Amino acid sequence: MAKSATTPYLLLANIGQLATMRGENPPRRGPALEEVGLVKDAAVLCGGGKIIAADRQREILRHPWLKKNRRKVVEIDCRGGLVLPAFVDCHTHPAFAAPRLIDFEKRIAGASYEEIAAAGGGIRSSLAGVRQATRRELSERVFTALQAMLAQGTATVEAKSGYGLTTEDEIKSLEAIRDAGRRWPGTVFSTLLAAHVVPPEYAGRVDQYVAKVCDEIIPLVAREKLAQSVDVFCERGAFTLEQSQKVLDAGRRQGLDTRAHVCQFTPSELQGLLAFQPASLDHMDCVRDEDVSLLARSETVAVLLPAANYFLGHREYPNARRLLDSGVALALATDYNPGTSPTPSMPFVISAACTHMRMTVPEAISAATINAACALRLQARKGSIEPGKDADLALFDVSDHREIAYWFAWNRCVQMIVLGQKV
Ligand SMILES: [Zn+2]
Repeated sequence: MAKSATTPYLLLANIGQLATMRGENPPRRGPALEEVGLVKDAAVLCGGGKIIAADRQREILRHPWLKKNRRKVVEIDCRGGLVLPAFVDCHTHPAFAAPRLIDFEKRIAGASYEEIAAAGGGIRSSLAGVRQATRRELSERVFTALQAMLAQGTATVEAKSGYGLTTEDEIKSLEAIRDAGRRWPGTVFSTLLAAHVVPPEYAGRVDQYVAKVCDEIIPLVAREKLAQSVDVFCERGAFTLEQSQKVLDAGRRQGLDTRAHVCQFTPSELQGLLAFQPASLDHMDCVRDEDVSLLARSETVAVLLPAANYFLGHREYPNARRLLDSGVALALATDYNPGTSPTPSMPFVISAACTHMRMTVPEAISAATINAACALRLQARKGSIEPGKDADLALFDVSDHREIAYWFAWNRCVQMIVLGQKV
């Protein structure tokens, strides 16, 4: 891989706590989410962009490879800090042109999400900005967001289109994501979200828009290899279950992975979506009881996005405990977007998951690393610190992993290692 061509050998030494997140058969469910694979007084050896070894420092210093190659190795003194696998932010919308300040003020004055959308705000109000922006301008926006995510511990990001909603503007958004991803040291996973809402020019002709997405946009994006998965917003005011199924079916027929925004404001019957074996179902604020066990038996990861609840001023958060205690594989993500969650911070999301959804800190860290990697089907490379995996590591100037959730809105990430490189 070009990004790791000049990778040096790195030794992260003097790690106070190393949360490896190692374990069998991810995604993790139930009690397995509590295991962070903690090693105290640890060190990590990286080479060729990969983890070579991660263990107690005294074991690492005796490692035969290190003995042979000591002079080639660059050492990083972690000064007793905490090292985690870099976060995987498995749900973001970075391809937008401007913040949505009018929506923000209206909401503070008491308007609901749906009232704002009905008044011409919401997702549709981001369309004009994206349609007018050049690919380069959008790409700059995406890159700025990726850099902000990286600074807070994230090295893998799922990035969606969805504010263009014409063939050319969705393509432009995905190209902007690709351009930004090429400059960025981390890994970008791109998703086509042409079925975000119905654009105004298709008002009253929703099925015709769905047909355009399925017959024109998805095949073109697949042919140009501009996205790895297809997403749909299955919600009142966006797309019905039947329309959503058409979108996922079209994606799957083109060889793309599938995922969906569902159960954010109104419950939806999940069986019809799980039939497509989506990699993830996201939001899941109001899942019906009868669907929880279906979800627990599936390989699909439920991605919870508590920063959106926070920013929307909701008193209610997704019922993480019910999902966790039923054996659903849970992940966490920022949902970075201009309307409902303008934050790049996975540590903030972890903190909100603990304080507002009663997840334990180890559960939240598992959900932000290894399970989030599963939500992108990247668990073979990402989400834990194990030999052979990508050397994506985040160093924090704290001595205990529980501090990640404790110091909220305070960035304690002091060093990132991405594909074995100090960045
Ligand atoms: Zn979203």
